[in-house]
Amino acid sequence: MTDTTRDIRPPVGRIPNGDVPNTIERMRAGERRAIASVITELERLSDSAPALLKALNPHLGHSLVLGFTGPPGAGKSTLVNAIIAEMRKDGKTVGVIAVDPSSPISGGAILGDRIRMTAALDDDGVFVRSLASRGYLGGLSPAAVRIIDAMDGAGFDVILLETVGTGQNEIDVAEVADIRVVIAAPGLGDDIQAMKSGLLEIADVIVVNKGDRPGADQTMHQLAGALSIRATMAEKVPVLKTSALNGDGVPELLKTLADIGTRVHAADPVSRRRRRARYLIARAASDIVAERIKVGGPSGLDPLADAVLSGTLSPHEAAKRLFD
Ligand code: GDP
Repeated sequence: MTDTTRDIRPPVGRIPNGDVPNTIERMRAGERRAIASVITELERLSDSAPALLKALNPHLGHSLVLGFTGPPGAGKSTLVNAIIAEMRKDGKTVGVIAVDPSSPISGGAILGDRIRMTAALDDDGVFVRSLASRGYLGGLSPAAVRIIDAMDGAGFDVILLETVGTGQNEIDVAEVADIRVVIAAPGLGDDIQAMKSGLLEIADVIVVNKGDRPGADQTMHQLAGALSIRATMAEKVPVLKTSALNGDGVPELLKTLADIGTRVHAADPVSRRRRRARYLIARAASDIVAERIKVGGPSGLDPLADAVLSGTLSPHEAAKRLFD
């Protein structure tokens, strides 16, 4: 669980309020040190963060946020690198946020390093930041949203948000993207099962990577089958095949993302950001409830439980009182 309900003093910021306008200006001019320091302050949620967020606000809403998630080994980093290369050919600037909730190494996720190694290091049009481990005030997805805001404010055209794995943490982080891409690959067995339980629910696009390997078509069929029983069948979710290694299918994937992106961008920037904010509120609310229902005894849930037992309150009424 996260720390949303605890009162924790923010860390001391390294950007004094008086330096905020100048820092934002340098960041918007593409100065990497300024971009890095704004990201760090927002990531740490230091006491510089509120002034920075306020100053960034008029500049937000430009970036399209693409989320990539799926089981380890599916080829996410390789595919993200291929996508970065294609987007740079188009002249798009790309921010990358590599999230690895399972990595204990704070600030140095291995995932981000893998992307950094292959994405041209001296390319000013690419900026990579890793988010590792736990311990972020309010959880990982709010931290990811703050970094999205920083990169958006810096003017990146596209932000690629990559998460490792298929657990609830990853799904939570992926939810904050404008378009969610779920990556699978043949031969992952149990992981495909795990994906069915949660990841497929949030996918806007499904990619079966390693299309050069045997079994790719079978995996596509399995996933298409699982999708057909998805609860909300309103829209058809494309299932695409790629090979990140040789580039097959990558242009088609980008075309699909661009088509969906046009639809998403047609929604005004405020509504896209509002969707993220709504999601974070829902997350925080469920954290608060989860904290409260853990507490038994007279100051906790027991009086409400007794009221339900005696018939004076319905479970629904009792639940509403958790928020009083
Ligand atoms: P991640 O854990 O999902 O980020 O996966 P990686 O990108 O690290 O890839 C895992 C392994 O699969 C690496 O050895 C890659 O070289 C390999 N790989 C990635 N994409 C492909 C592909 O399209 N075809 C084949 N054959 N191998 C791939």
